[in-house]
Amino acid sequence: MQNLCVLGATGSIGLSTLDVVRRHPDKYNIVSLSAHTRVDAMYDLCVEFSPKTVVMVDEYCAEQLKLKLIAQDYHHIEVLAGTQALTDLASCPSIDTVMAAIVGASGLLPTLAAIKADKRVLLANKESLVTSGQIFIDALTASKAELLPIDSEHNAIFQSLPLGMQSKVGHGNIADYGISKILLTGSGGPFRETPLTEFDDITPDQACAHPNWDMGRKISVDSATMMNKGLELIEAKWLFNLAVDDIQVVLHPQSTIHSMVQYVDGSVIAQMGNPDMRTPIAHALSYPQRIESGVQPFDFFNCKNFEFSPADLNRYPNLKLAIDACRQGQGACTALNAANEIAVAAFLNTEIKFTEISVVNEAVMKHFYDVEIATIDDVIKLDSDARTFAKNTIKTLDVT
Ligand code: NAD
Ligand code: MG
Repeated sequence: MQNLCVLGATGSIGLSTLDVVRRHPDKYNIVSLSAHTRVDAMYDLCVEFSPKTVVMVDEYCAEQLKLKLIAQDYHHIEVLAGTQALTDLASCPSIDTVMAAIVGASGLLPTLAAIKADKRVLLANKESLVTSGQIFIDALTASKAELLPIDSEHNAIFQSLPLGMQSKVGHGNIADYGISKILLTGSGGPFRETPLTEFDDITPDQACAHPNWDMGRKISVDSATMMNKGLELIEAKWLFNLAVDDIQVVLHPQSTIHSMVQYVDGSVIAQMGNPDMRTPIAHALSYPQRIESGVQPFDFFNCKNFEFSPADLNRYPNLKLAIDACRQGQGACTALNAANEIAVAAFLNTEIKFTEISVVNEAVMKHFYDVEIATIDDVIKLDSDARTFAKNTIKTLDVT
């Protein structure tokens, strides 16, 4: 029986994780759950999974949940509030495995806490790796933790790697295994063929309507701008110890192949299937075994054609910024990620246009381009400074 903590339990990845777990009550035990503000959703999860402890980051929401649980006689579930409670939850001795599925840099400290506490960490929260890179990998190397990628592309790459590389997340050497390239696939999002002249008028709902994947709103906008592929390129660099030029982004609109590994002998190993996050989640939960996930078997006789093309960086300026940041260094990556979180939130709130996301991101990244990052405190300071700069940049956009 694996004892699980699901961080970000009410989100898209959190709920998919719990859907896999509910199919295997003999294998997984939900010990703790966390969420930000969704009281009703968390209440339902408490009733179904009866965790020992839950954290609502927002204090008021924690109070509301407590009252609701007590009113229904669920006295045995402990409800905590605040960010310190999150890191305590992730490092609690009674936990074996942590699903890191908080969205954004808010996931960094709890995910790092899980690593330092030697947990098996299932990493969906790509932003934590993007913001702290080498620091995160050093913590992993110094610990007995095991890191398994949940992001569908990274999980696909992991599955397509030789066993020797699979046991060296963060420090394997691809040349030792005859690997020549990592092919990072992406659908191109909902605006792959939209005329660029229409980009100014894109609405949040249009940006969140991804053609293949059903995801939270932040990552959906990132998929539409392809910042998501940029963050994933940085994530891949750290997970598989790559140089930027070892990674090639390949547009594959059908999202059937979830990424590939190319070998020096001409072989290409791909992982494929229906686009459903329960596959990588089930893979990581049960690794090195396999369990049923609820995902339909792939139907080869009724599938669309497989198409592939390069990504047009004029269409996707955010992807270009992320590639530049990855070449430049940690300061640029941390600042870009923070800027993007602020810009995407402003876009979702209809404060800025879709096309202004990259304007904000570029201004912030230029400003903090070469800030040196050596410690986690440096990361937190730069993240905060970059957010302030992004908010000020948005104000100047309002004026013009
Ligand atoms: P989501 O918005 O659906 O859910 C986010 C979860 O995080 C919620 O439970 C929310 O309560 C919690 N949360 C939000 N802000 C928080 C904060 N400040 N502090 C603590 N908790 C907070 O997001 P999602 O789509 O499930 O994505 C989660 C992570 O997984 C992201 O990093 C995303 O990039 C990654 N990911 C998601 C998918 C997907 O299919 N959804 C695929 C690959 C990777
Ligand atoms: Mg992905």
